[in-house]
This record gives sequence, C-alpha cells and structure tokens, in this order.
Amino acid sequence: MSTSMTPQITNPAALDGDGLGCHSGEKQLLAAAQSAGKSATLEQYAKDYPKGPHDQPQSMCPAFGSLRVGLRMRRTATVLSGSACCVYGLTFTSHFYGARRTVGYVPFNSESLVTGKLFEDIRESVYKLADPAAYDAIVIINLCVPTASGVPLQLLPKEINGVRIIGIDVPGFGVPTHAEAKDVLAGAMLKYARNEAEQGPVQAPRAGRGDKPTVTLLGEIFPADPITIGMMLEPMGLAAGPVVPTREWRELYAALDCVAVAALHPFYTASCREFDAAGRTIVGSAPVGHNGTEAWLQAIGNAANVGQEKIDAAKNRMLPAIKGALSKMPVKGRITLSGYEGSELLVARLLVESGADLRYVGTACPRTPWSDVDRQWLEAAGVHVQYRASLEQDLAAMREFKPDLAIGTTPIVQAAKEQTIPALYFTNLISARPLMGPAGAGSLAAVVNTALHNKGRFETMREFFAGVGEGYAAGVWEDTPHDRPEFREQYKRQIVKLQKKGNAEAMI
Ligand code: SF4
Repeated sequence: MSTSMTPQITNPAALDGDGLGCHSGEKQLLAAAQSAGKSATLEQYAKDYPKGPHDQPQSMCPAFGSLRVGLRMRRTATVLSGSACCVYGLTFTSHFYGARRTVGYVPFNSESLVTGKLFEDIRESVYKLADPAAYDAIVIINLCVPTASGVPLQLLPKEINGVRIIGIDVPGFGVPTHAEAKDVLAGAMLKYARNEAEQGPVQAPRAGRGDKPTVTLLGEIFPADPITIGMMLEPMGLAAGPVVPTREWRELYAALDCVAVAALHPFYTASCREFDAAGRTIVGSAPVGHNGTEAWLQAIGNAANVGQEKIDAAKNRMLPAIKGALSKMPVKGRITLSGYEGSELLVARLLVESGADLRYVGTACPRTPWSDVDRQWLEAAGVHVQYRASLEQDLAAMREFKPDLAIGTTPIVQAAKEQTIPALYFTNLISARPLMGPAGAGSLAAVVNTALHNKGRFETMREFFAGVGEGYAAGVWEDTPHDRPEFREQYKRQIVKLQKKGNAEAMI
C-alpha cells in the first residue's frame, strides 16, 4: 500500500475557481497551476496546442477526449480526478456515446485538496486497482481544479505489479479541444510504450506480426476505413497497421513498429513527436476523393520507399472506382462546413470533389504541418479555411455565404434551422461515416443530398410555427409577454456596479 508521501499543495487559491473553469476564472486557474509546479506541462501544451481567437473551449469539456481514448481500450482503467460537476458531465457524455466501461473517480473536498490528501487518495486507489490479471494500464486524468492546484500525478509510481500507471493533466485552460485531449493521452501512452520497446522485447500483436511493412493510421476513423486503406496499400506491398489511439496496449508497439505513419487527423502533435523519435516518416492528409487519394498514395509510397510502378498499380486499382462513385453521386448546392473533430478539411475536400459549392470550412483544431496539403488544395479551390475557428466566425460565414446547407456544431445547426437553412450535425452525422475510397464518396453524398432537399420542409415548418416562441417570448405562456428592454438595461447597470465594487475590494 501507499507510503505517507504527502506532497505540499502549493496553491490552495486554485479552489477559488472550483467549477468555474469553463465559464470564468481561466486566468486565475492558469496562474494557480503555474505557481503549483505545472509550468512545464502547460508550456508544452501551449506549444503543442496553440490557442486561437478565444481562450475557452467552445465545445464539450476537452477532457472528454482523453477519457474516451482510455475507455475505448481493453484492459485499461480510467480514473478522473476533478470537481464532481465536471465528472458528472464527463461520465454522462461517455455513456451517451456508448462507453461500456466504468469511469473511475477519486472525489475531493477543499480540505483533501489543500492538505494533499487527494494525492494520497489517488495513490491508494491506483494501488487498489493495479491487478495485472485485469489491467495492462491505469490512466488518471487531472481535470481543471486538481491541475490548477498542482496535484502531482508525476509522483505516482510508473508501474505497480506490472500495471502501467499513466497520469495526465487535461485542464480546459490548457488543452483547447477534446480532439487535442485525445492526443494528450495517446502521446503519453506512445511515449511509455516507446521507452518499453527501447528496454527490451515487448508483446507481439494479438494476431501476430504480418509479413508486410505496415502504415500506422493516426486518427479515430470509421471502422470500415482501415479496411479500405488496407486494400489501397496492398498493390504497394504494404498493409494497414494499427489505428492510434489504439484499442489495446500491445497495439502501441505495433503502431511504433511501422514503415510510415499516416496522420489522417492532423492534430496529434504529441503522438507525432513520439513517432518522430522512433524514426518514422509522417505523411499528412488522407485518401479522400480522387485527387486526395492520388496524392496520398504517392506520398505514402515515397515515404515507404516503394517503386513508382507499384505506386501506379495502387492508383490504377482505386482511382477509377473513386471517380465513378463521385460522378454517380454529385452534390449540387452551396455549403458551409465547421466542426471540432479535426477531420473537417478532409470532408471539405470530398465535398468539393463531389461538385459542392463549398465556401467556408472552419475547424476548432489548430494549423499543423499535417493538414497543409489539404489547406493548400482547398484554398486553390476558392474555399476559405479557418483554423481555430470560433463559433462567431462559423456563424458569420453562414450569414455571409447564405448556404443551401450548413454543416456544423450544435449551435450552428440551431442558428441555421432558425433561418430555414437545412443543417447537419458534423459530429454525429458526418464524422461518423466512411470517408475513404469509393465508399466514402458515395456515403457522404447520400446524406448531404438528402439534407439539401429539405429546404421545403423547413419553410413549411417556419410558416406553421410563425410567431411562436421567439426571442423574449420564447416558452409557453398564458399571455404573450411584453418586451421590457428598460429592465434589461437596469439589470446590466446593477451588474456592472457590483463588478466594479468587487474589483475595488479585491485591490484593497
Ligand atoms: S474539467 Fe472540463 S467541465 Fe470541468 S471546469 Fe474544466 S473544462 Fe469545465
């Protein structure tokens, strides 16, 4: 069991921000974390995940990305350390998205946080969980408040009874999107596995090692896509390797043991650092559409030192079928597109190749070298590409381009529907379908075309609901409410006054 190594928590002031991480108090939490020994971690995050026009996450809690990666792995326990409200939301979302594993939680209160007892509790829970018959790894995720107060997960043992212990900080004030939080955990696991592989022999893949060199696929893609990619690679004498984030610890070794890495999703900066350290060539973009697939096959073939004859054989096998699928299912209409999954530029390319009049693509993820090819291609096609897009930028694009279809996040879809613009949720309806090869072309066009034909239904609904529940009169009322702009003004003045008073007191 644990020894009595209670660390000094250097910044109890972090408690002032308890539960406020998403909405306010970001600067205080950041300053608290820096003075509580988390500077190095936060500096690395600032380099890996540079912020954009807004400094708060505008989508779900970023930690969901790390949690999801942990929960999807076999023989892995994932434990949260954070405020109860955050843990409630994260657990709810995990199960909403079909997690079939338990979310672990080490609760805390002001006293256990300030005295360092929380670290002791985490340590104790890790020792209790570390059963090698049940687990390969235990992941502990510090949320906003424990990160801000410096709960030192790095002091946990690296391994207990053969079970690996991975402690990571994933605060909303340091990791901007849930996409990048996937990278925080995937990168930490790859680093651990790379060190293990450097020390000596490691476990082989469950199905054994194949005889062909493999290409590791970086990014959570639709389950059919790796099969399509495998078929594309076959004429080059290559095979599709594991998908990272992996579903099992031993796949990490196989992922590192590749001839090249396909960064299909371009935001895995920490993971790419590990592949780079292992000496692997990383290729950006993905085999989407005709042009995208042709360029990708060439880049992968070059990275894997495959002769041009074989690369051409791979192209000849796939490209005619993709061309056929694209021309069979054309997309006609003006579209704006935005999302926070990191695959937005790939979807955008496919839409343009399908014939769509795409004007804008916004992604919450940052610009990285691995999406440069896609950005250049889209810009040459006249599409505005916005990295680290804010909700306001996405909404402004919709107002400016007046699309026939808006693909976006929940608030974009809501705003579009209010304006009788047909809309599709990017996360649930677009990113959860195949994108690669002929299957990708056909599948995307089918859902987009169905939505494009919905304009008439939206207009009928607007007529039917006209005048009901808009603006200040939203809701169900016995009498239609009267607008009282003077009350709002009065209330605003009161709040400003209170804020000024609070600031003045804080300065005393
Ligand atoms: S952990 Fe997530 S939900 Fe909680 S305060 Fe931080 S960003 Fe918000």
